[in-house]
Amino acid sequence: MFTFLSGSLSLDLTTTLQVRHRDEPRELLVSPADVTQWLDQAGLSGGITVDADGLHRTIALRELVDRLCRGAGSDEDRVALNATAAAPPLVPQWTGSVLRFHGDLTHALSTLARDALLLLAGPQAARIRECDHSDCSRLFLDASRSGRRRWCGMSACGTKVKSADYRRRKAGKL
Ligand SMILES: [Zn+2]
Repeated sequence: MFTFLSGSLSLDLTTTLQVRHRDEPRELLVSPADVTQWLDQAGLSGGITVDADGLHRTIALRELVDRLCRGAGSDEDRVALNATAAAPPLVPQWTGSVLRFHGDLTHALSTLARDALLLLAGPQAARIRECDHSDCSRLFLDASRSGRRRWCGMSACGTKVKSADYRRRKAGKL
C-alpha cells in the first residue's frame, strides 16, 4: 500500500524510496508490478504494463526528481526531466462520474515529469520541504498559510515529534 500525501504526485513518487537518510533506505518499487500498482493507486491508470526496463525508467525519473527537489540535481537531470516531459502525457477521459487515464508507461512518466517540472520551475518550488521527523525523509509541498509546516502528512510523524518535544520540555531539557 502506497501513500499519497505529499501534495503532488511527483513528490509522492519520490517517497517510494523511504528513509533515504539511512544507510539502508526502504525500496517500495521492487518489481515492475509495483510500478503498475503505484500508478493504479495514484489514480493514473488501469493496469499499465510495466517490464524490467519500465521499472528502471521509473526509478531513474524518481531519483532525478528527488535530487532536483533537494537542490542536488545536475544539468543532466534537468535535461532528462525535460526529455521525459516532452513525450505526450496520459489522456484523461471522463465517462459518467469516472475519470480514467489512457496511455502506456511512457505517457505516465511524461505526466509525472510534467508535474515535477511545473513544480520545480514555478513559485511552489520554495514550498518543497522534507519532513522533520528523524525516521522520515518524505518530501512534501507545504500549502500552509504560514509556510512553516514541518511534517509530512503521515499522522504518525507530527504526533511522534510533538510528543517527543513535550516529553523533553517536561523533563526540562528543552
Ligand atoms: Zn514524515
